[in-house]
Amino acid sequence: MVQDKDGDSRGEVHRNWIGGQWVKGPEVIANINPSNVAEVVGWYAKADQAAAQAAIDAAAGAFAAWAGTSPQLRADVLDRVGTELLARREALGTLLSREEGKTLGEGIGEVTRAGQIFKFFAGEALRNEGDLLDSIRPGVRVEVTREPVGVIGVITPWNFPIAIPAWKIAPALAFGNCVVFKPAELVPGSAWALTEILSRSGLPEGVFNLVMGAGSVVGEAIVASPRVDAVSFTGSVERGRALAQSVVARGGKVQLEMGGKNAQVIVDDADLPRAVEITAQSAFFSTGQRCTAASRIIVTQGIYERFVGALVERVAALRVDDALKPNTDIGPVVDMRQLQQDLDYLDIAQREGARLVIGGQRLRREAEGFYLAPALVVDSAPQMRVNKEEIFGPVASVIRVADYEEALAVTNDTVFGLTAGIATTSLRLAEHFKRHAQAGMVMVNVPTAGVDYHVPFGGRKGSSFGPREQGRYAREFYTTVKTSYVAA
Ligand code: ADP
Repeated sequence: MVQDKDGDSRGEVHRNWIGGQWVKGPEVIANINPSNVAEVVGWYAKADQAAAQAAIDAAAGAFAAWAGTSPQLRADVLDRVGTELLARREALGTLLSREEGKTLGEGIGEVTRAGQIFKFFAGEALRNEGDLLDSIRPGVRVEVTREPVGVIGVITPWNFPIAIPAWKIAPALAFGNCVVFKPAELVPGSAWALTEILSRSGLPEGVFNLVMGAGSVVGEAIVASPRVDAVSFTGSVERGRALAQSVVARGGKVQLEMGGKNAQVIVDDADLPRAVEITAQSAFFSTGQRCTAASRIIVTQGIYERFVGALVERVAALRVDDALKPNTDIGPVVDMRQLQQDLDYLDIAQREGARLVIGGQRLRREAEGFYLAPALVVDSAPQMRVNKEEIFGPVASVIRVADYEEALAVTNDTVFGLTAGIATTSLRLAEHFKRHAQAGMVMVNVPTAGVDYHVPFGGRKGSSFGPREQGRYAREFYTTVKTSYVAA
């Protein structure tokens, strides 16, 4: 492990990785465990603007050579990274759960997914095919090929500390781009561990760079730099929109994944136990801190009483505790700011006339942490703030509707469009919902959250901007098309 002593009582400070060197920062980030706020998971060097600039320069300097490498070399690098992530999934999953607060099973699952993503894009490096057509002019051939874009700025949020970086970094490198990676300040541990693996993977100096630090400093520097050709961002709507304007204004390419206000529809003919399980999973697992989480539960009146009764029972049985304990279903909220936001929305919902039927109170556990009992609100109306704004916590609200048609209308009555789910045994309704839900991803009898790594991920309306991420579709953002006309 490449760690270093900073010479003071903090012990090891994990450095930034810039131009093939481990670089100290002027300040240090303390990585706090949300399951036990007295525990520092690790200390991480905080990059400043000059460090961000150095990383951008290193990436720009490395680009021409990296873009010209054999796809076999890129495939081998990505495959090695994937293999190591999979081999170390338990240790890395533990680190992830300690810094983010999702359960150990979810943490290990996320690292596994990151490993699979690297392996998938190892293959994609070798499959960057183009088109060959006859020109309309005699004796001329037309080739359509894809080339790397250049330097990619990767800016990521805290809720998937290794999977989101993986699904941006792996395709960027696969197609011959260089990367400047800025993780969220709350979760530098997984980002640093991934970087440490990448640092030993055979990448030439400068191709991949890590700059941990503040969004307003390091993030801004990446966004503003004319040497950064494209920025892939996942985070809040407000931040994403502002960032996109800056990148587009200087002619850069941008891809955004932002919020959601995802609907889970339950219709009268749904299989009740299955509908309850899907809803509990979608709304509360990973502490509800997934952009694909269901936060609006839309239920038709024939099943309403039975469904809500069974869901309350299921929520009451969820065990909220330290992320690393083996029986924990739901870990803590990520930090105090997010916990306060969850509590504020519960207040707002009740002031607007909705009724809290279970949960919503802070919980005491062995150690002091940001524990919140999963909360379910009923008697909520579509226009209430709790049904309009993203909360991003273990908080869901139930909306009662007359029939499927009303359920679909309410599903689409949102500025977001990431995922939408329906629980039904009717093929007709499933087909209709699949076609008419205004969302990038539609789920029939499966939770709204929890997606595969080999197929496109992304939303419509205010949830996303730019080409889709993941699967074969990732190539759209990480390459640029060239059309060549050749006369023999
Ligand atoms: P979240 O609440 O999910 O962290 P944010 O949009 O606040 O959402 O943060 C997502 C990422 O964007 C983080 O890495 C954050 O540091 C970064 N970020 C925040 N402010 C800026 C900014 N002004 N420019 C670029 N990146 C930023």
